[in-house]
Amino acid sequence: MNAEEQAARIKTLDAADPLAHKRDEFELPSETLYLNGNSLGPLPKSARARVQEVVDRQWGQDLIAGWNKHGWIDLPFSVGDKVAGLIGSATGQVICCDSISVNLFKLLTAALRMREDRTVVLSQKGNFPTDLYVAQGVEKLLGNERCSLLTVDESQIREALTEDLAILLLTQVDFRSGSLLDIEALTLAAHEKGILVIWDLAHSAGVIPLELDAWQVDFAVGCGYKFLNGGPGAPAFIYANRKHHDGLVQPLQGWMGHKAPFEFDECYRPAQGVAQFLCGTPNILSLAALDAALDVFDGVDIVALRHKAIQLGELFLELVDGSKALGEFELLSPRAANERGSQLAYAHPQAYAISRALNAEGVIVDFREPNVLRFGFSPLFLSFEDIRRAVERLCYVVTEGIFEAEVHQERKKVT
Ligand SMILES: *Cc1c(COP(=O)(O)O)cnc(C)c1O
Repeated sequence: MNAEEQAARIKTLDAADPLAHKRDEFELPSETLYLNGNSLGPLPKSARARVQEVVDRQWGQDLIAGWNKHGWIDLPFSVGDKVAGLIGSATGQVICCDSISVNLFKLLTAALRMREDRTVVLSQKGNFPTDLYVAQGVEKLLGNERCSLLTVDESQIREALTEDLAILLLTQVDFRSGSLLDIEALTLAAHEKGILVIWDLAHSAGVIPLELDAWQVDFAVGCGYKFLNGGPGAPAFIYANRKHHDGLVQPLQGWMGHKAPFEFDECYRPAQGVAQFLCGTPNILSLAALDAALDVFDGVDIVALRHKAIQLGELFLELVDGSKALGEFELLSPRAANERGSQLAYAHPQAYAISRALNAEGVIVDFREPNVLRFGFSPLFLSFEDIRRAVERLCYVVTEGIFEAEVHQERKKVT
């Protein structure tokens, strides 16, 4: 295909994009090509307006009355119910609070108590480190006679499901390669062996169709600041299937998870259901931002988001494949679109310097150790033309050797 035909095709794709109008709902610097919505979603205009309102009027004028007057106290639940709509959950099973790491601790310890005759927690090799760190921490805390972590390659998970396992703790989308696990099939296979499942949906929620209730998932966690665009450090969420609400016990017992926090009872009595997963006072500014950010999803079908994310990724893949200048980029993601999430990862010996040079050129991407460039395709605000321009700038950075400049070699604290 020549350049003209390609330009025409990209124009057609953008013209036919049913989500194109969503871009206007975000604040994005005009010259920036943001292929990083999978790491930190951009600022929705609705979130900016809400945070201003909460700071200036609610907190500024109404002070402590805000807890009742503006429903601050209910935000973990109401925002949770909005997330529920995006992950195939009925209301009353999702709560927004804390980080994924803290929430995994609560879930893992609670789930282990539900399988007292078993000890093994199975996870995947290469899982996001925090998931493994939390499991290792629980192992240390409870001792190996109550918890022992086992990790296997993704391809070995199925055969590793035995009746010794208490918990299957998996991340659906691999944070490096983007490879995608089948939640429904693995949950079913785990249940056949009496194993409880905890899914990490960090790179799934808001971009991949999920049916947690229909798939009978036990527990899940997910991220507020990635595809949900809730802002830096946005509260994470916990999903706990209603079938487990009775008898649930999690050890981070704080007053907000008490049955009646304002009775100031000296004895802890857990609230019913997901409310028990609250620990301390909710982070209202962040919850308000996430609440407003989720309004961007109003009227949006996740199936359409997934479809566009795949189209964006396929276009990127095709343009990189077709470029001689990018011959040294080694694809680490599954080539089949239905086997990966909304990202593509490439290995390159100069990945770090290329990522810095690209960022300086306005193409914002991630670098991941040891040599991985990660491109995220957030379908709410990216156009097909953005993809074309991003690959064009990538070619420029590589063919002109822009990345070789000393300034691009220096490591930053956050990569
Ligand atoms: C981003 C991410 C997290 C983040 O955890 P926090 O504790 O919320 O910072 C956890 N797990 C996975 C798989 C992630 O991609």
